[in-house]
Amino acid sequence: MTNHEIKIAFNEYNTVDDLSTPDKLLCEEAVKSLDSSHSPYSKFKVGAAVLLQSGTILHASNQENVAYPSGLCAERVALFHWGTMHANDPIIAMAVTAHTNDFKLTKPITSCGACLQVMAECEKRQHQPFRTLLYCIDGPVWEVNGVQSFLPFMFFEDRLIQQSSL
Ligand SMILES: [Zn+2]
Repeated sequence: MTNHEIKIAFNEYNTVDDLSTPDKLLCEEAVKSLDSSHSPYSKFKVGAAVLLQSGTILHASNQENVAYPSGLCAERVALFHWGTMHANDPIIAMAVTAHTNDFKLTKPITSCGACLQVMAECEKRQHQPFRTLLYCIDGPVWEVNGVQSFLPFMFFEDRLIQQSSL
């Protein structure tokens, strides 16, 4: 038996003011995205802003549905938009934030597993990782450099070996 340990590395900034100016602006764009959230069921708004290499910023928010599984997280709304309209313009960073009147958020929210797997696919597609800024309004910001830090066991097809080569 061999025991393995995996460490997850991320940077924590006490407030959004401790970020570089471009990163702070991207977090503020994510806050603007909250306005388009369609979340009448959870009343939990999530906003995302994606900075592309060209300087373009994509905005997205969570979109819920009365048939709950039909809704989609802000991150995937953003990333599928990128894949549809901007896939030749690499993602540099994505900021994600949340707001609800039901709870006081004191830590950044983190993305669900499905969104992490989609982030991994986007990194693979653009052949480079991107940074994620998880922004708690009036609280800390967590910066993660590449989805592999979030999801070390994400599905990687390069772990598969073709039957014909065995
Ligand atoms: Zn998600």
